[in-house]
Amino acid sequence: MKKIGFIGLGIMGKPMARNLLKAGYPLVVHDIVSAPVAELVAAGAATGTSCADVAARSDVVITMLPNSPEVREAVLGPGGVIEGASPGTIVVDMSSIAPLASRDIAAQLAAHDVAMLDAPVSGGEPKAIEGTLAIMVGGPEPVFDEVKEILSELGASVTRVGEIGSGNVAKLANQIIVGLNIAALSEAMVLATKAGVDPARVFQAIRGGLAGSTVMEAKMPLILARNFKPGFRIELHVKDLANATDTAESLGVPSPLSAAVLQMMRSLAQAGHAHEDHGGLVQYYEQLAETEVRPL
Ligand code: NAD
Repeated sequence: MKKIGFIGLGIMGKPMARNLLKAGYPLVVHDIVSAPVAELVAAGAATGTSCADVAARSDVVITMLPNSPEVREAVLGPGGVIEGASPGTIVVDMSSIAPLASRDIAAQLAAHDVAMLDAPVSGGEPKAIEGTLAIMVGGPEPVFDEVKEILSELGASVTRVGEIGSGNVAKLANQIIVGLNIAALSEAMVLATKAGVDPARVFQAIRGGLAGSTVMEAKMPLILARNFKPGFRIELHVKDLANATDTAESLGVPSPLSAAVLQMMRSLAQAGHAHEDHGGLVQYYEQLAETEVRPL
């Protein structure tokens, strides 16, 4: 059985690491925060003193970190994975980061004969706990084949999209579609409420038609209950839409709707809502329209 290193034991990484332990993999873990490391050690994992130490003791190193700068630091920085990894080690970065950063980090690892896949996920904490994430992977097929069994312990679907960076391109597509859907839902329901029509009845009337969506089913009940507990934090969606618009910019591709929703989410984050669920975007429209989407 392959020895696995896991770096980044936050909301997502901690339950994912637990699932690998449950599946019987020998696991070495590391995080700059000690509490989740202690929890995993109690569950049977070993502790790595640094990212390099984790890499030296593993065949496969999984990273689950906030964004591109943290992944660069943990993989390429002082005491990073690159210092401990031997030729043949596989790095699987499951964080949602900029696709161009994935390509650059992979190129630097390749110079040391270390292979890398980008394998971001969709599904959030509940699916991380259940081991039913949707995992979208970029990188060489033979490397993918070597770790597919490991990834299957974490996800209900594991799809190789293409070469390195493709996983994160798929994730950006996912985040654009989800963010814009939440904005459309918010715009429509604030309009309905302001027009004096019960938004709960509007939801009931349209959910089975063409406008119905997974996003509507997931977010509308929470909006009606004024429940903005995350879930997926607005600050993370700001990060993803910023990566989407930066990537679009670098390719010369227009992304007017992503740019607009990014501004809405940024202004909400700055107004103190950064740690709320992205369904809380409705409050941006509510403030402008001086109304609140509640059942009448
Ligand atoms: P988080 O902030 O809860 O966890 C990140 C962890 O990384 C923290 O424990 C932090 O201490 C650790 N860390 C940061 N820098 C480090 C370093 N240099 N070395 C070692 N550890 C370090 O974030 P999360 O919610 O678990 O998200 C992780 C990634 O997964 C993000 O890219 C996010 O966009 C993505 N994601 C999150 C969700 C979600 O619902 N939370 C869903 C899908 C994808």
